[in-house]
Amino acid sequence: MLLSWNVTKRCNLYCEHCYRDSGPESSVEGQLTTEEGRRLIDQVKAAGFRLLIFSGGEPMIREDLTELIAYAAASGLKPAMGSNGTLLTAVNARELKDAGLGGIAISIDSADPASHNRFRNSADGWERAVQGIRYAQEAGLKVQINMTLKEDNVDEFEQVAQLAEEMNVASLHPFFLVPTGRAVNIEEDALKHERYYSVLRKVLQKQQTTRLEIKPTCAPQFMPLAKDMNIDMRYTRGCLAGVAYCSVLPNGEVHICPYLPVKVGNVREQPFDELWRENPVFRDLRNFKKYEGACGSCRDVGNCGGCRARSYYYSGGNFLAEEPWCYKRPFARKAMEGEADHGIGREGQGAVKPAAGWASDSSASMG
Ligand code: SF4
Ligand code: SF4
Repeated sequence: MLLSWNVTKRCNLYCEHCYRDSGPESSVEGQLTTEEGRRLIDQVKAAGFRLLIFSGGEPMIREDLTELIAYAAASGLKPAMGSNGTLLTAVNARELKDAGLGGIAISIDSADPASHNRFRNSADGWERAVQGIRYAQEAGLKVQINMTLKEDNVDEFEQVAQLAEEMNVASLHPFFLVPTGRAVNIEEDALKHERYYSVLRKVLQKQQTTRLEIKPTCAPQFMPLAKDMNIDMRYTRGCLAGVAYCSVLPNGEVHICPYLPVKVGNVREQPFDELWRENPVFRDLRNFKKYEGACGSCRDVGNCGGCRARSYYYSGGNFLAEEPWCYKRPFARKAMEGEADHGIGREGQGAVKPAAGWASDSSASMG
């Protein structure tokens, strides 16, 4: 089980898609103190979690980061970090490693520095991130590259994979954009329908030809799709949110996942382990009979689950609704049979309309 802790909302960059709406001006007021952080770590351990991901904002901004990582490692958790990589130096990378950090995921959205820098509103964010990867490797940290896939960079996946291979990183995780935080403003760039599935297929095929570990992220249908493509997966479920994964915000709020803005509770009011065990939201997410629509009657609900954040966004607030991109929805089947299609979703919030031909394309490989 893994937990993502956004230790701060502040970030030195201001990226277009930031799910936490972070930036250099973001307030650090009200974020969990070092002492509260230690208590949270104890409770996360007591809840049975193994992996604790320090994230943000930019976690390197927090002055007590090394101390918290050391505490997590000493308590028996495996600390990892998600970072834009730009603040890493040879010295602090070594300090993080010595504190017990196992690995670091650094975001690279393009093999073209100018394109990455435009997206991340930074003059030299790409160059510094690449240098950060080198510092992390020299310090002995396991490095993963995270790439957020969307319409305007999806064709660069191969090039980023090549860069990852050349840099000898351990893994590449392509993230499929979920409209939340500032990403709501670029919802139209999210991969959808037949595009979503054709990219997912390419990503799975790439795994067959590289030594990189490639995991499609926030695209839970990769599990049934891999099964259909006869590709072995070492993962248990496409989406772990609420089942074996959740997130804690800088102010202690517990959310289903970082992309799903539903407050389940706050660790300032209730111990995390108690919340994780007993909260009705988590209990509902673990009871697949509660899932609605196509997901509710799907034989793959156990190994996929659909993206609860997309369900929430496109249904107007129901995280148990059927996943809007899945080909198994009845209206997608109708589209497959050539019947008229109707958009679903909230007015002004990116109503979902299947593009012509998408359903037959996805059914061809998902059976
Ligand atoms: S709910 Fe969606 S965004 Fe959240 S972890 Fe699951 S797949 Fe990812
Ligand atoms: S219906 Fe839901 S659970 Fe089934 S494959 Fe589609 S998204 Fe996954």
